[in-house]
Formats: sequence, structure tokens, C-alpha cells
Amino acid sequence: MSATRVHILPLGIDNCYLLQGDGCVLVDGGAPGQEHRFFDQMATLGVPPERISLIVLTHAHWDHIGCARALTKATGARLAVHGRERDIVVNGRKSMPPASTLWGIVFGAVLRAFLPFIKVEPVAVDIEIGDDGMDLAPYGVNARVVYTPGHSPGSISVVLDSGEACVGDLAMNGLPLTFGPNLPIFADDMKTVRASWRKLLQLGVATIYPAHGRPFPVSSIEKRLT
Ligand SMILES: [Zn+2]
Ligand SMILES: [Zn+2]
Repeated sequence: MSATRVHILPLGIDNCYLLQGDGCVLVDGGAPGQEHRFFDQMATLGVPPERISLIVLTHAHWDHIGCARALTKATGARLAVHGRERDIVVNGRKSMPPASTLWGIVFGAVLRAFLPFIKVEPVAVDIEIGDDGMDLAPYGVNARVVYTPGHSPGSISVVLDSGEACVGDLAMNGLPLTFGPNLPIFADDMKTVRASWRKLLQLGVATIYPAHGRPFPVSSIEKRLT
């Protein structure tokens, strides 16, 4: 199989990632109302949206599933999410985790004030991911889904054979969330977040692609775990 490339697709407040190998897999479903940016960036890359055969959601918070319905429709791709968060997606619920830092409390209050004005469309889920993850080779990319809970009960990461890893909100990098690469300011359970990071470190991840912010070397997060 040819090498898998990672393309960053910024969609408003967060990124989707296009994994391009012999096939194409999209990681995450974008913030609500941002699908036009997805189509513009796919056109710039010269990749027809129909080439995407699978969309994997790192988790089901509203800012990661906002365009999922529009994107599955346009691509014809199957939609995968961990089984623990399936109901949120199929019901179009707007889910947000508790704060894990002081800034998370303040910023979370601001986000919650806007939430009633944000619409998330329900969308059918084709694949429920289990705790043992999922191999993405059948979709033409050298990667696997690894269960990495903590930010939410069904959070997953996509780990490429190259050591690159799309980790959703297991890390955050940049304002208005964090100053530089750090652990998430919102999380169900920080102990579980740290355990998931240890799991990723054991897999030899090297370059981290967070959903919020730019990629960074894993050494930046390693020092936050001690
Ligand atoms: Zn999240
Ligand atoms: Zn997020």
C-alpha cells in the first residue's frame, strides 16, 4: 500500500484531517455550518469528495459532528463512531464535557451561552467502533483506530503506521483554548486522559494532530504528563 498523507482541513473552530493513501478517510465531521470550507479545501487539494469511503469521528461533541450529515451525503462515505457515543450522533444532540481547568470553566460558560443558537443535524451511524479499535487498511490507509477515552467516554484516536496521530480533543493547541500544546481544558476524566496518552506513547506516536490547533511533536505533551 502506498504511504498515507495527512492533510489538515481547518473548518472554523476545529480541523478535520484527510488521510490520503490508496483510499481516503476523513477524521471528524467539522463544526456546524462549515461544510463550504470542506468543499473548497477538497477542490484545492484536487481530491473529489466521493473518494472518501469512511468518516471516523474522534468523538461526538457538537463541534466535531456539525457537518457530518452534509459530508456523508456528499461523499457517500460510511460513518464510524465509538459505540458509547452513537446515540448522540443519531439524535443530533449537542454534547459538551465538563471543564478540567479554571479557564475551561470560564470559556465553557461562553460556549454554553451560544449553544442554543447552534444546530446539529442527526445522522445515521454505519459502524460502531468497539474498545478494541478498528483497522483502517481496508479503506486504503495505513492506520488504525485506537480507543483513547477521557475527554469523552467514546473518544478515539487515529494512529498512522508513520507515528502520526489524529487525537481529537485528547490534546488542544492554541488560543482561545490553550497557550500552546496541552491537555484538554474540557474532559470527563483527566485520569483517563492521562492513561490514554500513556497508551499512545507506548504505540510510539511522534507527531500529534489535535482537532483544535496546529500539529506538534509528542515531546510537547509528554512533559505535561509527569
Ligand atoms: Zn470535544
Ligand atoms: Zn472539540
